Amino acid sequence: MFPKPTKKEKKGLLYSGKRLSPEEALKIVQATPLLKRTAMKRTPVSPLKRAKKKADTAFALYIRNRDNKCMLAGLDNVRCGGGLQCMHLRTRGVYILRFDEVNAMAGCAGHHVYYTNHPSDWDHLLQEFFPERWAYIEEHKNEEAHYKLSDYQELERFYTRLFEGIM
Ligand SMILES: [Zn+2]
Repeated sequence: MFPKPTKKEKKGLLYSGKRLSPEEALKIVQATPLLKRTAMKRTPVSPLKRAKKKADTAFALYIRNRDNKCMLAGLDNVRCGGGLQCMHLRTRGVYILRFDEVNAMAGCAGHHVYYTNHPSDWDHLLQEFFPERWAYIEEHKNEEAHYKLSDYQELERFYTRLFEGIM
């Protein structure tokens, strides 16, 4: 059982100056490559992912303001410049250290890009100029951490408060 067609549907749809029946219009839609329609589709973001992103943002904001300068300026021959970012000493993929202050410092975009692309230079620089942090990271980097939604929310609140405290 199908609902009765409305007046508009009876009249059909105008397509390139031609009036089409709903069936014909449907055929055209189905024959149209999906590209345009899928491009419009947004990937739904889960509450967990959204909370994680917010925690990352709050953490990064705090770190950038805590250091307030590129911590690598003058330590190497890399040209310092660009906006200040939050650099993780060990990648954010190491969850146990992802929200650990010891594992993060402010750095300019120039330094951040350079060392992202030169990981062994990065390790050498850390060992030379930040040996205590290096040792700490080496000690903890293989530990596991899993975060629930409420953990991310708590982290966001915690670093937002810290950030506001130094402003
Ligand atoms: Zn720099």
